[in-house]
Amino acid sequence: MIEVKDLYKSFGDLQVLKGISVNVKESEVVCVIGPSGSGKSTFLRCINLLEQPTSGDIWIDGNKITEPHIDINRIREEAGMVFQHFNLFPHKTTLENVSLALIKVRKLSKEEAEKRALEILRKVGLEDKAHVYPVALSGGQKQRVAIARALAMRPKVMLFDEPTSALDPEMVGEVLNVMNDLAKIGMTMIVVTHEMGFAREVSDRVLFMDDGMIVEEGTPQDIFNHAQNERTITFLSKVL
Ligand code: ADP
Ligand code: MG
Repeated sequence: MIEVKDLYKSFGDLQVLKGISVNVKESEVVCVIGPSGSGKSTFLRCINLLEQPTSGDIWIDGNKITEPHIDINRIREEAGMVFQHFNLFPHKTTLENVSLALIKVRKLSKEEAEKRALEILRKVGLEDKAHVYPVALSGGQKQRVAIARALAMRPKVMLFDEPTSALDPEMVGEVLNVMNDLAKIGMTMIVVTHEMGFAREVSDRVLFMDDGMIVEEGTPQDIFNHAQNERTITFLSKVL
């Protein structure tokens, strides 16, 4: 579903990604862990072209997105992204936040868009918040709206960049539950996270990134119980 080959990304003189190659199968859940500054966000942002790779190629569902003149907006519809900070529109209700792109980008009628938005809000447990503004939502609820907004576009893959890092601890669980539900229905997901419990229990594969490279990868069992690389072992000793 996702193929990344020899991905390099520099910002000026700063080389941030130094040759990343990864394949993610349909329905696979891949967690990316690693120290701050190792390039995890940049990696995700390259997959939906929020950053333009310096070199290397990326395919999503067989479409080469690193082709010149590609329709970037179409790629962003195929790869839904959820950020640490929810980026909801503050002056729009929950329902409007979720249905807006369906109307503007997908050209659905307002009625159809709202129907689809409500269905998805029901799935993330927020149907009753459809008509409130973000200010009236908790952090966990806001993040579930952000997930619903991405899902409304019916993406082929979902990319999560530390979706629970900005939440109060008691709200982490409700967001991880929604992500777990998505994994169960077969969504292909790449999740950058510090939630080692989620990585261990939900992911099929864990990538450990350090200094712009994938230093080690394997099943959660491989990484959490039998890490081989010194840098992985040192990182895990600090976070577990
Ligand atoms: P992580 O998500 O693992 O913490 P990032 O991908 O955010 O790492 O950042 C990796 C490195 O790239 C950092 O040194 C960061 O300062 C740098 N970086 C990220 N985005 C930019 C940018 N737009 N311009 C310049 N440097 C950037
Ligand atoms: Mg980051």
